[in-house]
This record gives sequence, C-alpha cells and structure tokens, in this order.
Amino acid sequence: MSKRTLILWDIDGTLIVSQGAGVRAMERAFRERFHRECDLGKIDWAGRTDSWITGEVLQKNGLPATPENIQAYLEAYLSVLPQELAAGSQGQILPGILDLLETLHHHPQVAQGLLTGNMQRGAEFKLTHYQVWHYFEFGAFADDSPRRNDLGPHALRRAGARHGVTFSPENTFIIGDTPHDIECGKVIGAQTIAVATGHHSLAELQSHHPTAAFQDFSNPAALLRTLGLQP
Ligand SMILES: [Mg+2]
Repeated sequence: MSKRTLILWDIDGTLIVSQGAGVRAMERAFRERFHRECDLGKIDWAGRTDSWITGEVLQKNGLPATPENIQAYLEAYLSVLPQELAAGSQGQILPGILDLLETLHHHPQVAQGLLTGNMQRGAEFKLTHYQVWHYFEFGAFADDSPRRNDLGPHALRRAGARHGVTFSPENTFIIGDTPHDIECGKVIGAQTIAVATGHHSLAELQSHHPTAAFQDFSNPAALLRTLGLQP
C-alpha cells in the first residue's frame, strides 16, 4: 500500500519536554561565544525557529544579528546542547508519544517526519537523547528558514521524495503545541492538530482554530481517530 497520510511533528512541547536544556544551552553558548551574560526572558520563543531565536537574542542583548554572529551563535549552541541534555534529568517524552510513534511507524498508509524550529543537528541531539530519532527519516528544520511558515513546503517536498508520492494538504497533519504550529500548517492548507503539553493552554490553542486540539496524547486512540486511522 502506498503512503497517503503525512504526519509532521513539532518537537519541543509536543514530543518531548527537555525542561530547560535548550534555554541553558542558549545562555551558555552566548556566554562562551560572546563573553557576556544574556537575558533570554525578553524573548517570546515558543514555536519559533532556532535561527530566528538566535537573531532575537543577539539584538536584544546589544549585538548585531549579522549572518556571521547568528552562525557563530548557532554553532556554539549546538556544541553545548548535548551536555545540557545529559545534565538535565527532568526532561521526558510526553504521554502517549512512544505508543503513537511506534503505531504510526508500522502503519502502511502513514509517513511521519518532523516540522520543527530546531536546527537539524539540534533535533537529532534531542531525539537521540530520548531514543526516538530513528522514527524520522525526513523533516523541515530551522536550517531551511528562520520563518516557521516557510517550513511546510520543505517538509512536503522531502516527504514526497522519500516516499515517491505527492501528499495532498488535506491528508497532511501538522502536530504542535503553539499557535505558530497551527499557523504554519494553515499556510500550506494542511490539517492542524494542537496539543496543550507545552506553554499554551487548550483554550488558547482552540482560539486559533486548529482542526483538532488535545490536552495531551495520553489516549493515543483519540488522535488516531482524528487522523482518520483505525486505532
Ligand atoms: Mg513546540
């Protein structure tokens, strides 16, 4: 059976919570690379891309967001991220996710990939740390664009190349924990699934009119039904 349903997962707040490992790595990278403290409290970064976030951090902390500074900052961040992930014991895979990844991986009709604001290497570090990287054969990342709304077409193109089929927007589901995830799905006409396991409440997510919204995925069968798949 050829693949016809495409599922694109966000990472932070959707698949996992790393309980500050990413923030600590951003702070430490700034300190080590630019030799001063930075204030990340000023950045509204949930649902943003790492390439956007680094530009914001630089500007709000008095440094020009030149391509050179952004690149240097991203490199420094990626070099310390594995240590910060290893140091944090509070992070976890969110409820129901392992079940869902495994079920969808074996479903003959389903292709699943990533649509995330992480850099590709950052995504690999995080998901390898939680032992789920092998579920994702393609994705769209902050390497592709600092604007999340640009990422959908990259993910669709890679999914098509990987599986040799064209996935229609109505059979494409973007799953994420912020209004930015919902918006970037709507931009490509995809179905959008919101989940309140990040920093946004269910009511807040519902106000952005996703196709469906969940408190969490502790009942995997409910999500499978929404995806049009028999649990
Ligand atoms: Mg997220």
